[in-house]
Amino acid sequence: MNPTDTPEIAKVGTAARVAVSVCVGDGIGPEITAAVLEVLKAAGARLDIETVEIGEKVYLQGVSSGISDAAWASLKRTRLLLKGPLTTPQGGGYKSVNVTLRKTMGLFANVRPVATFHPFVPTMHPEMNVVIVRENEEDLYAGIEHRQTTDVTQCLKLITEPGTRKIVHYAFEYARHHGRRKVTCFTKDNIMKMTDGLFHRIFDEIATDYPEIAADHMIVDIGAARLAARPGKFDVIVAPNLYGDIISDIAAEVAGSVGLAGSANIGDTIAMFEAVHGSAPDIAGRDMANPSGMLEAAVQMLTHIGQGEVAENVRNAWLATLEDGIHTADIVGEFTTRKVGTRAFAEAIVARMGKRPVKLPAAALAQARPMKLAPLAPRTAKPIEKRLVGVDIFLDFADLRPALLGARITEALPRSATLKFITNRGVKVWPHGFDETFCTNHWRSRFMPSEVQAEHGGANDAWVLAIMQSLAASGLEVIKIEKLYTFDGEPGFAQAQGE
Ligand code: NAD
Repeated sequence: MNPTDTPEIAKVGTAARVAVSVCVGDGIGPEITAAVLEVLKAAGARLDIETVEIGEKVYLQGVSSGISDAAWASLKRTRLLLKGPLTTPQGGGYKSVNVTLRKTMGLFANVRPVATFHPFVPTMHPEMNVVIVRENEEDLYAGIEHRQTTDVTQCLKLITEPGTRKIVHYAFEYARHHGRRKVTCFTKDNIMKMTDGLFHRIFDEIATDYPEIAADHMIVDIGAARLAARPGKFDVIVAPNLYGDIISDIAAEVAGSVGLAGSANIGDTIAMFEAVHGSAPDIAGRDMANPSGMLEAAVQMLTHIGQGEVAENVRNAWLATLEDGIHTADIVGEFTTRKVGTRAFAEAIVARMGKRPVKLPAAALAQARPMKLAPLAPRTAKPIEKRLVGVDIFLDFADLRPALLGARITEALPRSATLKFITNRGVKVWPHGFDETFCTNHWRSRFMPSEVQAEHGGANDAWVLAIMQSLAASGLEVIKIEKLYTFDGEPGFAQAQGE
C-alpha cells in the first residue's frame, strides 16, 4: 500500500469479505460490542471477525502492555480493529492500552464527528455538526513523566514538526474530501509559545494550500467555551492531543450524550474504530449502555473498507429507531416512546433494517468515495544551523530562599560561566525576586558562557560538564539539564517569566 493512502481505499461496493480484529473491551464493552455485531450481521456486513483479547483481563494475566501476542498477530494480519472501550487506572497502575495501541500502530489521526439528532435526542444546540480531528500520538500523551524532587513531578509535552504537519494536512484533506468549509485550529500558544506555537505556525502554513477552505485559530479556552455555547459556528476543528480529547467529550455531551459519538483512528496502513466514550464502569453489566457510539464507529469502518451500502443501511435503521422514540436511558426526552436497554435497542435497529428516517437527514453512503490522502508536500531541505549557546541546570534545593541558592551557585561557579537567572516554577526569583513568589524545592538555573569562555569558542559539552561538576562538588544536587540552542540564530528556548 502506498504510504500516502489511508486504508480508506477499498473499492466501493466490493463483494469481498474483509477480516477485522474485534476487541470487546472492558466495563460496558462486551454489552455494546455484542449489540453492534448483531446489527452488523443483520445488515449483511461482509466481515470475517477475529476476536482478540486486549485490556484489563490480559493485564491481570501478567501481560504488562495489556495486549496479548495473539492480538498483535491478528492486528498485523487484518490491519483493522473495531474496539470496545478499555479501562485505564487513574493516577497509577498500568499504562493506557488505548494510547499504546494508537502509538504502536501509528494511528496519527483521531477523527470524531459529532452531530445532533434534533428533536429526537434532547440537545440545546440543534444546529451542531462538527468534526474534531485530534492529533493522536504526541503532546502530553507521550507519557514521559518524572518525579524530580520530593515535591515536584513533571510531564513532558512533545510537539513535533512532522507530526503536526501530518495531522494538519489530514484535517484539511478531510475537509476538502467531505465538502466542509472551515477548519479551526485550537492551541494555547499565548502561553506555550514554542510547542503550541509550532502547531499554530504549521496550521497557518498548510492552510494556504487550501484556499477554498476558511481557516482560523482560537485559544483553546475560549474555543472550548464557544464550542459548548455556540457549536453551530464550527465545522472541522484540529487540535493537539489533549485539547482534542477534552473538546470531543464536550462536543459529544453538548450534542446529546457522550454515548452517541464514534471515532476513527487513522494511520498510513492501519485503522481502528471505537466509541468516544469510555468503559462506563458505573453502568457496566446492567444492560443500560447506549451502543450508538460504537455503532457510529462501525459505520465509519464500513465506509472506510468500501462497504458503504451496508454502512448506509445500518445508519438509516439506527436513525429510524431514534426517530421512533426508542431510546436508551441516557437520551430519554420528550420524543421517547419506549425506554430500552442495550439489547432491546439493538433488536429495534435490526427490526428496522432497510428503513430510512423520515425527518432526520438519511445517510447516503452507498456511493461514498473512500478518502485518499494527497501526498504531504515535502519539507524544504534547507540546512539549519544549530548552535549550543547556554544551559539550564535544574537543582533540588530544600532551603526555599532564592538569595541563598544564588550565593551558593555563584560561589561554586567556574570562571567559564555566568549565572543569568534562577527561576522557580518558571518565575524569575534571582536576581531581584519578589518575596511573595511561592517557591518549591525545584529550581532552574540558567548559565551562559562568560567572556573568558566566549574567547575560547563559547558553550560546548565540556563547558556544560564543568559547570555540573562544580555544582555537584559544592553539594548542590543536579536533577536534570536542558541545553540551550539557537536555530539559524533564533533562540530555541523560552524566556523566564519576569526576565
Ligand atoms: P466514561 O465515558 O466511561 O463515562 C462517563 C459518563 O458517561 C458515565 O456516567 C457513563 O455512565 C456515561 N456513559 C459513557 N458511555 C456511555 C454509554 N455508551 N451509554 C450511556 N452512558 C454512557 O468516562 P470515565 O468514567 O471517565 O472513564 C471510565 C474508564 O474508561 C476509565 O478507565 C477511562 O480511562 C476509560 N476510557 C477509555 C476510553 C477508550 O477506550 N477509548 C475513552 C475514555 C475513557
